[in-house]
Amino acid sequence: MGLFSRQKPKIKIQTTKKDGFSGWIKCTHCNDMIHASEMEQNLHCCPKCDYHYRLSGTQRMHLLADRGSFEELFSEFKTIDPLEFVDTEAYKKRVAIAKSNSGRDEAALVGVCSINGQKVALGIMDFSFMAGSMGSVVGERLTSIIEYGIEKNLPVVIVSSSGGARMQESVLSLMQMAKTSAALAKLHEKKLPYISILTNPTSGGVTASFASLGDIIIAEPDALICFAGPRVVEQVIKQKLPPGAQKSEFLLDKGMIDCIVNRHDLKDKLSTFLNFLLGNQREFEEYQESGSSGALSLKLKQLIKIVEEKVPASV
Ligand SMILES: [Zn+2]
Repeated sequence: MGLFSRQKPKIKIQTTKKDGFSGWIKCTHCNDMIHASEMEQNLHCCPKCDYHYRLSGTQRMHLLADRGSFEELFSEFKTIDPLEFVDTEAYKKRVAIAKSNSGRDEAALVGVCSINGQKVALGIMDFSFMAGSMGSVVGERLTSIIEYGIEKNLPVVIVSSSGGARMQESVLSLMQMAKTSAALAKLHEKKLPYISILTNPTSGGVTASFASLGDIIIAEPDALICFAGPRVVEQVIKQKLPPGAQKSEFLLDKGMIDCIVNRHDLKDKLSTFLNFLLGNQREFEEYQESGSSGALSLKLKQLIKIVEEKVPASV
């Protein structure tokens, strides 16, 4: 089955009978049988091994936004096919299939919401739409929500999940890297916080632009975060990568990300970070000026320690 024909790409569903879904799912990570309802109640993390399965854009929004607070913005930007691109399939056809399979009109959902009462400009990428690839509309929606944050004085949170740039839009897709980064530079000038959340997988042009520019960069556990994937890197350098390379835990160790947060704690920790950054403006500005985005500065270590103490891990 191809990438675009799957109904729900989150979990590999194994049926016991050929004619229907038994309700039991085999965890692709620990191979235990888990009931679908149990998985759902556990925020799509395996109750046995805690493997974090992918969330759709809507599920992610429900996870983070206070109930009923999300208002979608910039949905008027619609995908067109300016290059009339055809590979094995016409781009127009791929978009139509992605729409019908994902139930979304693009790979990014943006809007305004409150997170534990704090108003936030929120952008969410949805991997189920053409592997979360970044075309013009994804870039434009994300840029617009960052600019909305600047205009309304709101912190910005973006949750990434992406296979990279959308090749069917060629250079127009690559331009989105510069555009989103420029908007974040303006947000930075206005001393407003930007928190980037990386989920499995985040790669390519998304990793190489806005996803890596957070004042704080959070990742979910065991997420693949890379520019080129491990197989491509191994082919190029003709060497095996160390185990776990390009996973959250490895990147935390190397200082590429700032912390790993379990999905069950994500909303509360995110909100503690936001409140801290907004409530300690002077310290935040000092932190920003130290130019330590992505690297673990002393200030950030202290901040993360405070958050760890305030929001104990759920496990
Ligand atoms: Zn499992």
